[in-house]
Amino acid sequence: MTEVAAVEPRLADVAYEQVECKSALNPVKNMMFSWSLNPYTGCEHRCAFCYVRAFERRADRPSDDRYGRTIRVKVNVASVLRSELARKSWKKETVVVGAATDPYQPAEGRFKLTRQCLQVLREFSNPTAMITRGPMIIRDVDVLGELARRAELHITFSIPTLDDEIWRRTEPGTAHPRQRLKAVEKLVTAGIDVGVGMAPILPGLSDRPELIEDVVKAARAAGATGLWAAMLHLKDGTREHFMSVLDRHWPELVPRYERAYRDRAYLPQFFGESTMHEVARLRSLHGVSDRRRVILKPPPEPEQLSLLN
Ligand code: SF4
Repeated sequence: MTEVAAVEPRLADVAYEQVECKSALNPVKNMMFSWSLNPYTGCEHRCAFCYVRAFERRADRPSDDRYGRTIRVKVNVASVLRSELARKSWKKETVVVGAATDPYQPAEGRFKLTRQCLQVLREFSNPTAMITRGPMIIRDVDVLGELARRAELHITFSIPTLDDEIWRRTEPGTAHPRQRLKAVEKLVTAGIDVGVGMAPILPGLSDRPELIEDVVKAARAAGATGLWAAMLHLKDGTREHFMSVLDRHWPELVPRYERAYRDRAYLPQFFGESTMHEVARLRSLHGVSDRRRVILKPPPEPEQLSLLN
């Protein structure tokens, strides 16, 4: 692994604000799932491309470098979840854990709220899906293994690239992608269904065919049950912060991004089409399925702000 000089402090000063939540499950519209659950609000991983920055902007909260430095910790989330799952009206629909914040961000090491929620989901044998970049998930393999035996469980590990420089500069708070791959392997060995989400792919950076192939091959070697990919999208709030990171580290790409994302959050189809074809070709070449059990892209629309509760 190439050593890359630190460009941002890996550990930020983070304030934890402990709060009591009134509800644990959030209804979600226009997505492939109906319920989300976020034990934390805010994410210490502070990815430059995080779509939650756009929501923070709309909610008049900081979406720049200050994002992810104050985390709201829902200390009673597991007991609230238990009472919600016990309701007669609950139809045992899939609950997606971590749609708006990473359930295995550093706070989880201290507060263990994700673990507590998984224990409740296990108790009720409730179908569950989860998306994370956090290898800390391995700590909970006992609960996850039991949940997988009782109900449908699917985990997606976000691994956009294995390139050290791109990872370091765009994901200042996450564990190295190779640690995530080790976690994928351990979960698969424990009989858990784990896929890889190669997202977001960054035009002119992580869209190089050899970098895409690295992820596809590594996902296959780790035993991932599927792989999906999506190009970067930049909504207001995310856009300003991402462009500042781009300008700091890859200024030569700024004009290209300004052209590609001018007046729009999503790349026009023809920009990303060849990359998606390359992903499909490499997936087929290396025998990786495109199975995508829970789609977390496109991101939620403004009316879905409840995702962030
Ligand atoms: S891990 Fe996910 S929620 Fe957290 S900052 Fe990165 S993209 Fe956002």
